[in-house]
Amino acid sequence: MSASLKDKSVIVTGASKGIGKGIARVFASHGAKVVVVSRTASEGQATVAELIAAGGTAIYCQADITLRSDCERMAAMAVSEFGGIDVLCANAGTFPSLKFSEMTEEAWDSMFATNVKSMFLTIQTCLEHLKKSKAPRIVVTSSITGPTTGFPGWSHYGATKAAQLGFIRTAAIEFAKDKITINAVLPGNIVTEALVDLGPEYIDATAAAVPLGKLGTVDDIGHAAAFLASAEAGYITGHSLVVDGGQILPESPAALS
Ligand code: NAP
Repeated sequence: MSASLKDKSVIVTGASKGIGKGIARVFASHGAKVVVVSRTASEGQATVAELIAAGGTAIYCQADITLRSDCERMAAMAVSEFGGIDVLCANAGTFPSLKFSEMTEEAWDSMFATNVKSMFLTIQTCLEHLKKSKAPRIVVTSSITGPTTGFPGWSHYGATKAAQLGFIRTAAIEFAKDKITINAVLPGNIVTEALVDLGPEYIDATAAAVPLGKLGTVDDIGHAAAFLASAEAGYITGHSLVVDGGQILPESPAALS
């Protein structure tokens, strides 16, 4: 456990379920105070109740992070309830599959609104508060899909996840004068509620393509995010950390046989 995260004020967008919930759980286990952000109040409040039941400190903020006014309210809540913002985990994202042959402008714009514009809005609305922190950190959840791999149906998704990495490289330089670090975590296939719904056969087939022989957990991503937010990672900025069990490594299926 990194003692440096104790009592930090941490915003996690998309923390009601999936990877964001894992990130929130790990930060709470380190003694951080977590703002759980999502649109669906019932799920977000259930996550907060779980974190508190496990001994953590958490509050819920219902917000659609594609809207500037909601992001401003989110930042204000973290400041009023927890005294400031030390860490922003820009995690919320969406990944509906759509082949390029069926791609519409609406689907393309919607993907960029949720995965890229929302990252911009959450960071911009939290930035002045982050500057006041002694060790300000931003951790973005990108993906291996886009930056390093491709998958049919996800041309728009992959473009957004690669765009996030393009953003953090320049942001890291601009934010450095305020001692803010910004890094990205690139998850491979992670077991979330949505993946479980696809059934054990799908999970087994996907796991067979991973050198470590299993899919990642949401806590695996949480640990990576917590490391990038810790004092120990204070000299790392503008980088991306792949957390995928070696999934991107094989040159061909023969490498795994
Ligand atoms: P998920 O289980 O579907 O959870 C998405 C979370 O984001 C939910 O809390 C959702 O809550 C919230 N959200 C979505 N749109 C939002 C909006 N406009 N405003 C506020 N909250 C919003 O997804 P996940 O699999 O955990 O994915 C999380 C992140 O990890 C994404 O950025 C994704 O690209 C990345 N990722 C996932 C995987 C994987 O294997 N799962 C792999 C690589 C990267 P509401 O719907 O209630 O708002």
